[in-house]
Amino acid sequence: MSLAKTFSVGLYGLSGTVIEVETDISSQLPSFTLVGLPDASLSEATARVRAACTNSGFGFPSKKVVVNLSPAAVPKSGSAFDLAIATSILAAMEVVPKQPLERLCIIGELGLDGSLRQVPGVLPMVMHARQSGFTGVVCPLGNLSEAGMVDGIQVLGAANLRSIVDWLNDRGVLEEPLQLSDLNPSTPSPLDLAQVIGQNQAVEGLIVAAAGGHHIAMVGAPGAGKTMLAERLPSILPALSTEQALEVAAIESIAGNGQAALNLDTTPRFQAPHHSSSTAALIGGGTGMPRPGAVSKAHHGVLFLDEALEFHGHSLDSLREPLESGKVLINRSGGSATFPARFQLVLAANPCPCGLSGLADRDCTCSAMAIRRYTNRLSGPVLDRIDIRLAIKPVSLGANLGLFDTGPSSAEALARVVRAREGAVERLAGFGYRLNSEVPGPVLRGRLGIGAKALKDLDRMLMAGKTSMRGYDRCLRLAWTIADLEGVKQPGPDQVRIAVALRGTDNLLGA
Ligand SMILES: [Zn+2]
Repeated sequence: MSLAKTFSVGLYGLSGTVIEVETDISSQLPSFTLVGLPDASLSEATARVRAACTNSGFGFPSKKVVVNLSPAAVPKSGSAFDLAIATSILAAMEVVPKQPLERLCIIGELGLDGSLRQVPGVLPMVMHARQSGFTGVVCPLGNLSEAGMVDGIQVLGAANLRSIVDWLNDRGVLEEPLQLSDLNPSTPSPLDLAQVIGQNQAVEGLIVAAAGGHHIAMVGAPGAGKTMLAERLPSILPALSTEQALEVAAIESIAGNGQAALNLDTTPRFQAPHHSSSTAALIGGGTGMPRPGAVSKAHHGVLFLDEALEFHGHSLDSLREPLESGKVLINRSGGSATFPARFQLVLAANPCPCGLSGLADRDCTCSAMAIRRYTNRLSGPVLDRIDIRLAIKPVSLGANLGLFDTGPSSAEALARVVRAREGAVERLAGFGYRLNSEVPGPVLRGRLGIGAKALKDLDRMLMAGKTSMRGYDRCLRLAWTIADLEGVKQPGPDQVRIAVALRGTDNLLGA
């Protein structure tokens, strides 16, 4: 009897578990069994591991081989355990020494020829390995740069099974990640707010949204510039902290975009799923290892839903959970995975199904009934979260000819946003919030109250039934953000008036 053990990391959502891969080789009839809740893709590992060991010239025992993955209760899927299984068997065969395997985490999929293939999720796996006290990680070369983003643990990349065997026997070296100084600096985005012409009001609305973290809806005819505005929102959002950037990189690692990140990108992301996207693509899911959807890929960034009312009703409703909790739970037969999903939502919609309503030279043919049906596709709970509603009018000929001033550049707007956010953080520190958009109505009306004089017009609107209580709260929230942007201590009548103009309506189209 011969025993050996290696370690790897299993992922479910973003949370990792150390998986022990134990091999027992005994002198009985030849067989190869994998135990410990392997799913279908993992069962195929036996074929890959056997072929990889044989084709790398190490042979495979003509004995009874049992590999146990534990803890058994943790669901395991995917091919990332191949290399740990093969190494565990080779250690039991005494092809490699056992001692160096004790503090080493091993990750990677094997090809039949023994080559190593990259796998999704390596970044969060390495983060978990470090947290669990491993001193080193071996991963496929293709994952080396993302794995190398994690400090405090030795990360090595291997091209194939043979190179790992040589390294464990002190006969060869493995690749080390490039140092940050070897990398090209990230190129700045070509999208700048200054490129938006003749939309000064909408641009100001976008800056308010960025400053307060407010979700936003833009309603206007096709071609009016909604996408152009939305795409520029990330350029006026503060850069991600290192911790946030790592979180986003970990999500992208699991999403397995195939693009190995070269360094930690601190730019807030922009996700614009098409309205025909499946709920899994929007929210997360898929077969095997759950993959994050657009809501999670937009974590700490912007989720833009163009033609929002064309999305499936079910998809729109499923936005409710991440909007409320900042995360999504994906339920599976094997367990449930959680992904963070704290994004800033930007919805864009046409003013009616045909999109022509409100255009001076075109006639809209939609019936009132059709427009109502169209609007109702967005459910109340999602609409309630949208503080700002901007009417985007097509830019006039004069603007196109450059007769109008351009608005601020992204750099100028960002500076205002950063200052405003600092003001909000200071004021809200005692309340447990960071952004005005996070403050609930009762707090806005209670301890964060605005002077009665400033609210005179707003109170009158409420009394006259011209705004709902939710609309009232939105105005308070926005008035604070506008005050933060203007550097005033308390919103006055001017800030409240601007807030009233920007506030969302209980009906998306404002009808
Ligand atoms: Zn129409």
